[in-house]
Amino acid sequence: MSSSKSYAAQSATTPLGPFSIDRREPGQTDVHIEILYCGVCHTDLHQARNEWKGTIYPCVPGHEIVGRVTKTGDKVSKFKIGDIAAVGCMVDSCRECENCKAGMEQYCVNSATFTYNSEDKKWGGITYGGYSDAIVVDEAFTLKIPAGLDPAAAAPLLCAGITTYSPLHHWKVGPGKKVGIVGLGGLGHMGVKFASRMGAHTVLFTTSPSKVEDGLRLGANEVVVSTDAAAMKKHAASFDFILDAVSANHDINAYLSLLKLDGNLTLVGLPEHPLPVEAFNLLLPRRSFSGSAIGGIAETQEMLDFCAAQGIASDIEMIDIQQINEAYERLLKGDVKYRFVIDMASLKN
Ligand code: NAP
Ligand code: ZN
Ligand code: ZN
Repeated sequence: MSSSKSYAAQSATTPLGPFSIDRREPGQTDVHIEILYCGVCHTDLHQARNEWKGTIYPCVPGHEIVGRVTKTGDKVSKFKIGDIAAVGCMVDSCRECENCKAGMEQYCVNSATFTYNSEDKKWGGITYGGYSDAIVVDEAFTLKIPAGLDPAAAAPLLCAGITTYSPLHHWKVGPGKKVGIVGLGGLGHMGVKFASRMGAHTVLFTTSPSKVEDGLRLGANEVVVSTDAAAMKKHAASFDFILDAVSANHDINAYLSLLKLDGNLTLVGLPEHPLPVEAFNLLLPRRSFSGSAIGGIAETQEMLDFCAAQGIASDIEMIDIQQINEAYERLLKGDVKYRFVIDMASLKN
């Protein structure tokens, strides 16, 4: 065991603060990573504040992790000491079920072990995430950051990147398709970058008029301020695919009605409360509504390689760990451009 400095929430209502945790000595296939950067996902806030119920305290959030390998187990072949390594939302899964074997560990029928707030079935205890100076992870659940990607701007790709890339890929977004992205936050800004780079006609929906210019700069062909009913109506029944990345409750029917025949709306946002769906809005004309969770390990590596080849990374605002509570408040106001990344060197302060 080695002791690691971290930041934890001790309850749903207390601000995050310093906390000491133990990390295991690396097993044969484990890598010990000194964390350099960790992205701040809205999921961290939902979990720290127990919005999905089920948070186990103390909770150390963080699942967009990039760092340097400092120790390796005897059987590690992917990394040597000094290499840059990354970890996303999962640290293990059963590896034997149909979904794991198909490379979709996030849908493991025995439940993947998530990077934080998850029962660690192999090592015991509850997992602690990336708001920490170190993490120990089986190399099978680590990723390589290709040369040419800035390690800090790559960190958000580990969740925001893969969560938007995977459904866009699955629903075959590309040239000739009209695609909507709802919400310009951490996920949404990656969704806009990917959909436009995949060749789709990309329309951003935002509640923030101040984000219109950024939406166009990030690659959207059109930006619609969703509170403008006339602007919304112009797009009625015209979309092949819409990706909804909104973190709070909102009217999903307003977006279902923008889908054409056989169009699909995929939800990646995880609001605290259920979203009512009007049946007529699904039936006429034969629309579908689905969800998507992150992506598998191989697909995450494919996404990172795609980003390096295309020169895509996240637009980030670097913060110190001491600013985390303030950053959460800004997330709630939609005031982030477009992902906070914690410089983990600040943990030493
Ligand atoms: P974020 O950076 O806070 O962005 C959310 C965006 O949603 C905001 O920037 C805002 O965009 C819009 N929004 C916020 N409140 C709204 C409201 N009341 N009505 C309409 N729009 C609103 O969050 P994120 O990190 O991208 O995460 C988004 C959601 O995805 C969270 O619920 C998170 O837990 C979830 N998530 C899911 C997965 C998965 O595997 N499916 C993975 C990661 C995260 P505008 O200002 O442009 O309107
Ligand atoms: Zn996340
Ligand atoms: Zn499995």
